[in-house]
Amino acid sequence: MPRQYKDYYAILGVPRDASEEEIKKAYKKLIKQWHPDLHPENKKQAEEKFKEIQEAYEVLSDPQKRAMYDRFGYVGEHEFSQQTSSTTFEDIFKDFESFFGRDVFDIFFGDRGSAQETQRTARRKVGEDISVTIEIDFAESLSGKQMPIEYDRYEVCEHCHGEGIEPGSGYQTCPRCHGSGMLREERRSIFGIFVSTRTCPTCGGTGRVVKERCHVCGGAGRLKKRVRTVVNIPAGVTDGTRLKVEGGGNAGYDGGAYGDLYVIVRVRPDRRFKRQDDDIYTEITIDYLQAILGTTVRIDLPDGGSTMLRIPAGTQPGTVFRLKGEGAPSLRTAKRGDLYVTVNVRIPEQLSAKEAQLLKEIAREKGIDVS
Ligand SMILES: [Zn+2]
Ligand SMILES: [Zn+2]
Repeated sequence: MPRQYKDYYAILGVPRDASEEEIKKAYKKLIKQWHPDLHPENKKQAEEKFKEIQEAYEVLSDPQKRAMYDRFGYVGEHEFSQQTSSTTFEDIFKDFESFFGRDVFDIFFGDRGSAQETQRTARRKVGEDISVTIEIDFAESLSGKQMPIEYDRYEVCEHCHGEGIEPGSGYQTCPRCHGSGMLREERRSIFGIFVSTRTCPTCGGTGRVVKERCHVCGGAGRLKKRVRTVVNIPAGVTDGTRLKVEGGGNAGYDGGAYGDLYVIVRVRPDRRFKRQDDDIYTEITIDYLQAILGTTVRIDLPDGGSTMLRIPAGTQPGTVFRLKGEGAPSLRTAKRGDLYVTVNVRIPEQLSAKEAQLLKEIAREKGIDVS
């Protein structure tokens, strides 16, 4: 079956430089309009139209497929079209979905002539950025961490050097312009029909395209790979900090640069500590006798260690002690904030008979009425 050029942009009624949002909007509108159930009188025709809209959207809504379509004029041969007579509408759709779910496309390729090369440079596009979310402990957010991560990204296909073309493959007539190298376009206006011609973007005006796609990447010029790397998480990161790893994203199109990797850091909260800017707040609870007579208590530090804190005699409930430089390091200056320790005092709910007797004696001595 000969391949036929389909103008997906015209099918969706959007310009060639339409944004993803515009494409989605046009698709939603058309798919409602052409749903076969709404056209019982000419269902067959509506089904065809419906399918065509789906097909156009599947390609144009996916940046990779769209780039391939813009470059080659085709993304895959629609296998279902040859079995429409023997299958139901639903079956065709299932096939269609499974087909487009695949990573490898059956496509035609552009010439590698000079016109094509100029075009290739013009089409060159940076790869997509990728974002990966990681989780670390509160203590790790203060000390920093070398964190190994694993993620999927597209890398340049080594076999075709990202061109999507099988090295050394032959040529054939461009299916879009049928070898003329030019495309003819008609525009209607109140003054009549205007005919214009432009260079065929598929073959870059050469009238011929390379026959074979790269057998390794299927013509995409890039391959999905699982990559491992180690992310350097600086001391002092806060929940939601975004770290940029330049060139860690997807490979570009047509020789374009790699996108970037963004590592989003989530910090698991520690119920003992609250961070505010670079200062950290914590609370301890001591016995009322310790508050009255004074003591030394061991307290946990945010970065995992501990230290001794002197509580002087006569410490009031709610007193705040400041431990200088025990807070979080600033991401910008590496200077550390402070740790603020609020002291709660526990008043016993029940006293032993002896304790009650002793306290009453003290009260009597001080002339305090406790009756
Ligand atoms: Zn052409
Ligand atoms: Zn390849």
